[in-house]
Amino acid sequence: MKVGVDPSLCEAHGECVAILPEVFDLDDDEVLQIREGELASAEEAPAQRAVVACPKGALRLSR
Ligand code: SF4
Repeated sequence: MKVGVDPSLCEAHGECVAILPEVFDLDDDEVLQIREGELASAEEAPAQRAVVACPKGALRLSR
């Protein structure tokens, strides 16, 4: 499973970073960076929580 962001929707609220900082990070310009590649199995549940928590609906999971 992978997670991606629509940068046109993300407003850098940071809820996703708070939930899963191993995958999500806000850079110095407040642009969301997502770690490349497949999520570890233990990261899938928190990634799903981050998708639900994002107030802009900017995150998507894919297989
Ligand atoms: S929670 Fe949503 S709006 Fe906030 S930084 Fe993450 S993707 Fe962007």
